[in-house]
Amino acid sequence: MLWLAILLAAAASGQPPLALTRATIYTDPSGNPIRDGVVLIRDGRIEAAGRVRIPAGTQILDCSGLTITAGFWNSHVHFMERKWANAARIPAPELSAQLQAMLTRYGVTTAFDTGSMWENTRALRDRVESGEVPGPRILSTGEILYPKGVLAGSPPGLMEALGFMRIAIPEVADAEEAAAASNKHLDSGTDGLKVYAATWFPPFVSLPRSAIQAAATAAHRREKPVLAHPTSRDGLLASVQGGADVIVHTTPQSGPWDEAVLTAMKEKNVALIPTLKLWRYELRHDRLSDLDRFVETGVGQLRAWRAAGGTVLFGTDVGYMNDYDPSDEYTLMAQAGMSFREILASLTTAPAERFKESKQRGRIAAGFIADLTVLSSDPSANVKAFAAVRYTVRAGKLIYRAGP
Ligand SMILES: [Zn+2]
Repeated sequence: MLWLAILLAAAASGQPPLALTRATIYTDPSGNPIRDGVVLIRDGRIEAAGRVRIPAGTQILDCSGLTITAGFWNSHVHFMERKWANAARIPAPELSAQLQAMLTRYGVTTAFDTGSMWENTRALRDRVESGEVPGPRILSTGEILYPKGVLAGSPPGLMEALGFMRIAIPEVADAEEAAAASNKHLDSGTDGLKVYAATWFPPFVSLPRSAIQAAATAAHRREKPVLAHPTSRDGLLASVQGGADVIVHTTPQSGPWDEAVLTAMKEKNVALIPTLKLWRYELRHDRLSDLDRFVETGVGQLRAWRAAGGTVLFGTDVGYMNDYDPSDEYTLMAQAGMSFREILASLTTAPAERFKESKQRGRIAAGFIADLTVLSSDPSANVKAFAAVRYTVRAGKLIYRAGP
C-alpha cells in the first residue's frame, strides 16, 4: 500500500515543487555564500539548497543576479494604527496592500507585534493564516501591561489624535495584578507579554520590579517570552532584573550605558532591539543638534552592547512609527559597528533562537520552513541592500513580488 500513501501525499500537497535558481545564497549569517545556487522547495519546506538537481515538473523562479537569505523577522511592530481596526472586515486586497506597505515589501516573513488590541490582531492573523490574505506570520503580545496611573494621567483621546485605534490599557500596580493580567493574556493565546517598565512622558509612572517578575514567571511557565519597554536606566534595570527576555529599545534618555548596566544585561542574557531610526523620528520636531545627540547616544549604546557580545534582534517599531522604510535602521546599525553578517543574524538566526524556533526557521537548510527573502543585490557590499527586496516567500508561497 506504499504507492497509495505516496499518491495521497502528492495529492494532498497539490503543488509542484518550486526552485529559486541561479542565485547567491546565504544559508546562514556566518558561512560563505553559494554562487549560482538553487533553493528547492516542496510542500512549504526547503528540500535542498546549493548545487541541486531540479526534478522534472518543478516550477522555476529565475533569481539571476539576486541574493537569497532566510526570511526576515521584524521583532518590534504594532498593529495599532487606525488602518487595522475591524481587521475582520477590511477587504482582502486592501488588507494585503497594507501588510505589503509595512512589512512584506521589506522581506518580513515573521512580525512580532509588541502591543495592540489582541482580539483585532488575532482576527488579522486568522485571515492571513487561512490563506485569504497574503501576509507575514504574526506573533503578538496583545495589549501592553502598563504601570498604574497612565490612563488617568493621559489626556482623553490622545491615542486617536495620534492616529491609533482606541486601545484598552491594562494597568497593573503590583505583582498580584501583574500575574492576573499576564495569565489572562496568556490564556487568551498571546505569544508572549509586553511590559512597559517606565513612561517617557507625563504622567511619570513605572512598574515595580516585582510586577515585571510576576509577568516573567507567568510567561516562562508557558515557555513564552517577556518583552520590555525600558525608557530609563531604572526601567531598563527593573526589566533586566525582573526577568525580561527582550529589551525592545535602546534608551538614549538615560545617557550612555555604563559597565553596571551592560554587565546586568549580559548576566541576564537579554536580547536587545535597538530601534535607532525611531529616535530620529521621535525627535523630528526638535533642534537638529538635539536630534543628532539623541540618535548618537542610541548608536553608542548598541555599539557598547555589541562590544559586550550581546544578542541583537532587528526591529523598527513600525506601526507606531508611520515611516516603514527600514533602510536607515540598517545604516545606523552599521554605524554602531555591526557587520552585514551581524545584521543578517539579527534578522534571522538571532530571533529564531530567542523565540525558540531555531530548529525550523532562521536558516536555509533541508527540512526548514521555506521562509525566504530575495534581495535585488548582495548586502555584503552595502547594508541598504537589506531593504531592496525582490520577492518575499513564506512557507514556499510568494507573498510579495516587486513590480517589474
Ligand atoms: Zn513599540
